[in-house]
Amino acid sequence: MPPVIDHEKCNACGICDAHCPLDVIFLQDNVVDVRYPYECWHCGACRQDCPRDAVRIEFPLIMLGA
Ligand code: SF4
Ligand code: SF4
Repeated sequence: MPPVIDHEKCNACGICDAHCPLDVIFLQDNVVDVRYPYECWHCGACRQDCPRDAVRIEFPLIMLGA
């Protein structure tokens, strides 16, 4: 599942936008938008680097070795 942003926690710092290698996430007008969700390859950078724990990702089972 592509990332989902918890806008209650997000402070619009832009780190997820800056760190996403595929430009899936954009910060515009102080709002984070998951603009290209189906381009996400689930690297986890946005979730790992978010200082507010505002990004939720469900990794595909195949990536979890299930
Ligand atoms: S998991 Fe990786 S590719 Fe997907 S939105 Fe986050 S940083 Fe971008
Ligand atoms: S890194 Fe986290 S707090 Fe910063 S803009 Fe992205 S979701 Fe919001």
